[in-house]
Amino acid sequence: MQFYSTNNRTLRVGLREAVMHGLAPDNGLYMPVSIPALSDSFFATLSQKSFQEVSFEIANNLLGADLPSAVLKNMIDRVIQFDAPLVRLEASISALELFHGPTLAFKDFGARFLSGLVGYFAAQQDKAITILVATSGDTGSAVANGFLNVHGTKVIVLYPAGKVSEIQEKQFTTLGGNITALEVEGTFDDCQRLVKEAFLDTELNQKHTLTSANSINIARLIPQTFYYFYAFGQVKHPAKPVVFSVPSGNYGNLTAGLLAKRMGLPIARMIASTNINSIVPEYFKTQVFTPRPSQQTISNAMDVGNPSNFARMLDLYDHQFERLANDVEGYSFSDEETRTAMRQVFRDKNYRMDPHGAIGYLGLKKYMKSHRGTQGIFLETAHPGKFRDVVEETLGQSIELPEALVKFSSREKKSLQIGKEYQEFRDILESR
Ligand SMILES: *Cc1c(COP(=O)(O)O)cnc(C)c1O
Repeated sequence: MQFYSTNNRTLRVGLREAVMHGLAPDNGLYMPVSIPALSDSFFATLSQKSFQEVSFEIANNLLGADLPSAVLKNMIDRVIQFDAPLVRLEASISALELFHGPTLAFKDFGARFLSGLVGYFAAQQDKAITILVATSGDTGSAVANGFLNVHGTKVIVLYPAGKVSEIQEKQFTTLGGNITALEVEGTFDDCQRLVKEAFLDTELNQKHTLTSANSINIARLIPQTFYYFYAFGQVKHPAKPVVFSVPSGNYGNLTAGLLAKRMGLPIARMIASTNINSIVPEYFKTQVFTPRPSQQTISNAMDVGNPSNFARMLDLYDHQFERLANDVEGYSFSDEETRTAMRQVFRDKNYRMDPHGAIGYLGLKKYMKSHRGTQGIFLETAHPGKFRDVVEETLGQSIELPEALVKFSSREKKSLQIGKEYQEFRDILESR
């Protein structure tokens, strides 16, 4: 598969280049030159296939020419080692639980697939590969855990000081080994900017092989298409139009859904649900995209003021607003609305949503009010235990932490504190 840049469709690179560089040299995002549809026989047997089988067929359809089939198969089997169950809450509303991986958030899918690919390419070169990742919480833990001890790789995690939960922080500051955590005196947007600057720094890139693990990396998006298909296969009444509501921050997960649709999955509508950082829902109202500094909310993994995958959304629809708006609807919700939904669903269905999943639920409810007869699925992107403080305070009840999280909380945090100026960050990169 070849990939082009969203800034220049004639710029073409192979899989290795797209994965290893993350961002195109012209600052655009890589997109596959073609998005081949899955075969009729694939869809005919979708509901009988295992999650691993579904995932392999999709990956093979897209990347079959780039990797030996056995390598790809092996990689998929390692990535998809946990389930993504569809949990029914109401007759036509289900939660797609994407938090059964090692760091209990959906980002495990993308991070593990990316580490598989980077590990494969690293084995073909002598120089170590440095993976840079800016995180508002969950990306850092997923990437750090996905790459821990992957030979030939070093990971640098940048995160905003004081703006991620203690449990999240522990998941990427306690690993040691090939993982370094940088605690940045600034916001998530500052962290993201530092990473972008490093990639545009020609001199630095001549000396080091830098790779991005943010959702700008196309390898993160590919495995996120898998569970849309798998979920669809589990739907009980597929004759009804199926819609997915996606709690969104950088819009990688939502873009993966749009890719799945382009591969032939008959998704009636994608719902972009978010908190008060409502840049994308506002775009759907006004047709104007206005990034602004992010605001802090209880769904902090979505506190993004300049969503990086928006360029991919536009690109997929050739910048035609009508076509994009036909497939995607956007809604935003306040913290108060989020808490109310969490309480309501807990009271009525005895189901605990994390604040992000709750926003997905709210978006779905809002959409279905005016679209009766649809089958709705919202993505539950993190285990409620990952946002324990908010969940306990909201539900007025303590929750038990899953084993995977307890393991981290007893370990000692190790991080380097830095300012938000590029030079300081650069010096650290140079010294490593
Ligand atoms: C990262 C994250 C999101 C947002 O996903 P994007 O792909 O950036 O839109 C939503 N929920 C949780 C729990 C996350 O960690």
